[in-house]
Amino acid sequence: MAEQHVNSYYAATVNDSTRYPRLEGQTTADICVVGGGFSGISSALTLAERGYSVVLLEANRIGWGASGRNGGQMIAGISGEHNLKSQLGDEGAALLRAIRYRGHDIIQSRIEKFTIHCDLRHGWMEAAAKPRHMDHLRQYVDERIAEGDGDGLEIVEPAGMDQVLGTSLYHGGYIDRRSGHLHPLNLCMGEARAAASLGVRICEDSAAITLHGGAKPYVTTSRGRVDAKTIILAGSTDHAFQRGRLNGLTFPTGSYIISTEPLSEAEAASINPRSLAVADSNIVLDYFRLSADRRMLFGGRCNYSNRDPKDLSAALRPRLVEIFPQLQSKKIDYAWGGRIDIVLTRIPAIGRLEPNVYYMQGYCGHGVNTTHIASEIVADAICGTMEKFDLFDRIKHIRMPVGRWAGNQMLALGMLYYRLKDLL
Ligand SMILES: Cc1cc2nc3c(=O)[nH]c(=O)nc-3n(C[C@H](O)[C@H](O)[C@H](O)COP(=O)(O)OP(=O)(O)OC[C@H]3O[C@@H](n4cnc5c(N)ncnc54)[C@H](O)[C@@H]3O)c2cc1C
Repeated sequence: MAEQHVNSYYAATVNDSTRYPRLEGQTTADICVVGGGFSGISSALTLAERGYSVVLLEANRIGWGASGRNGGQMIAGISGEHNLKSQLGDEGAALLRAIRYRGHDIIQSRIEKFTIHCDLRHGWMEAAAKPRHMDHLRQYVDERIAEGDGDGLEIVEPAGMDQVLGTSLYHGGYIDRRSGHLHPLNLCMGEARAAASLGVRICEDSAAITLHGGAKPYVTTSRGRVDAKTIILAGSTDHAFQRGRLNGLTFPTGSYIISTEPLSEAEAASINPRSLAVADSNIVLDYFRLSADRRMLFGGRCNYSNRDPKDLSAALRPRLVEIFPQLQSKKIDYAWGGRIDIVLTRIPAIGRLEPNVYYMQGYCGHGVNTTHIASEIVADAICGTMEKFDLFDRIKHIRMPVGRWAGNQMLALGMLYYRLKDLL
């Protein structure tokens, strides 16, 4: 049975209530996309723009997964950049330069072209959680400037932090003016609307149950079947599809967000006058931003057991108040969580199970930008331009030869280790 959007600030303010029909019967298309988050919707839209016929299957509702629940932070680059560079050397560095803001560009051009209202604002900051983290942030900015790619970056010295955030908890940071934040569910619904307008047949409540590869691949649902030349597993699909190169590759871990009631203009201006999206420099990090109606959306991880906490608000609020004591008396209107897919190398997994079955997943909490990059890379590969796809395909990922349960326990232990390291 399909699930509705989780009860979040985003679901409460979604501006498109389109319901797409369930797949009934057999159909054919050039491409069958499995998954209706950013990875799937963006792939479908890109391929429809290039003239392909596309059927997209979503088990629940469009944007039901991480894409409709996330922090809305549109962050440059991909996770695992350091590992990618050490595996691919100069080619990796050139790839990163080429794709760093590609997702932003795709999102921005779609917002304009298809009139998508999703509250995009520019300005994103990485804030130093420890004084020593500033060395690393300075080095990162210096490297980007040396590469000729530092235009939008600005260092904030510790002494200047009170101009930027109404908290004394951080020790400087850097701002990326090209990155920013947005309402992810409205973006996802808007891109779905755009895809449908170009002929993509979107099916909700249509979980793909089996995948048959080979020369004539097809996907079945409980009530239908899609025969396609190419299949894209877009985002983290369920167990049935985690096979071959996907076995033991990604491990889901929880991330959670609370939303306060709206702040007054004066309160918002004293807390975050430039309305930046902020992430701290810890590995197990806090992230926050103001929504368009001036709520504080504050997210992070609140346990290391890989079990959802019973009371999200009680679990996250102390950390919010530690950073912003001014918000002590604010009511929490919404609290929700979702799954982040962790890959041990932290490099997104973009590849193929078979010549005509592609996958993209494992963005490690860094997916707003990266899903749009990955979907373009896969669309390019389907159209015959393989350069970027081949580089990702060459990445040596670490696969854990254990089931997901044991893998998750190991991951929980790993996260605990990093949390302790962050605290030292
Ligand atoms: C709480 C939270 C906060 C986050 N914050 C940020 C952030 O601020 N910035 C950032 O860049 N990233 C963030 N992320 C990560 C980002 O949201 C994800 O990387 C991104 O949305 C992944 O998109 P996706 O399309 O690959 O997967 P999803 O959005 O999860 O979509 C996958 C879809 O596939 C469907 N599906 C699964 N199995 C099947 C099947 N068998 N048949 C049909 N459909 C199926 C699911 O129902 C789901 O809708 C956050 C994630 C979470 C959970």
